[in-house]
Amino acid sequence: MVDNHEQQLLGRATELGVSDARLIDAARIRVEDDLAAICKDPGCPGYGQGANCPPHVMKPEAFRELLRAYPRALVFKFDVPTEVLLGDGRFEVSRIVHETAAALERHAQTCGYAAARGFAAGSCKRIFCSEEIDCRVLSGNGDCRHPEAARPSISGLGVNFFELSRTVDWPIHKITSESNPEEVPMGLMAGIVLLAPAAPGTP
Ligand code: SF4
Repeated sequence: MVDNHEQQLLGRATELGVSDARLIDAARIRVEDDLAAICKDPGCPGYGQGANCPPHVMKPEAFRELLRAYPRALVFKFDVPTEVLLGDGRFEVSRIVHETAAALERHAQTCGYAAARGFAAGSCKRIFCSEEIDCRVLSGNGDCRHPEAARPSISGLGVNFFELSRTVDWPIHKITSESNPEEVPMGLMAGIVLLAPAAPGTP
């Protein structure tokens, strides 16, 4: 059942232009070590590049532990043409997903979920710091350049997004460089905001 705070959050997600948003019990988010390992092998160009991707982001075991402290989660998606996902346009969509996760996190914190935490699709290094030599956090030269937007990578944490999509009844197809946009015209990119009234461990 959706309460008033959750209803407000769903309304904010709609204002931000998401294609859909759902509230679920956070325990329904499955996290798998093997999925996080894919970032390294066969590999993603973002691997090792930023603080929000493996091997620097929290490990799947730590994320599973974190999830146990969060009763609820908001899951949102943007439907995206496959042609866009197969080209550089995906970075722009990914930027929007990060910004949306961060905005919903902030909104949740103002409406009763002090410990809200957002997560998004894609490597923040490739989205926000592609023109920079390195991630400022990893280089030890300062804080994140984009704390208002950059969030940890869902894939890097090991979230089984196909399973999660089935949980919320979102049709989803795996999009790869081999995908034919005529056969699979639409894909999606998504984010998660974990919801809890107080920081884990806070009485
Ligand atoms: S400084 Fe750039 S690469 Fe590093 S965590 Fe922030 S957005 Fe990501």
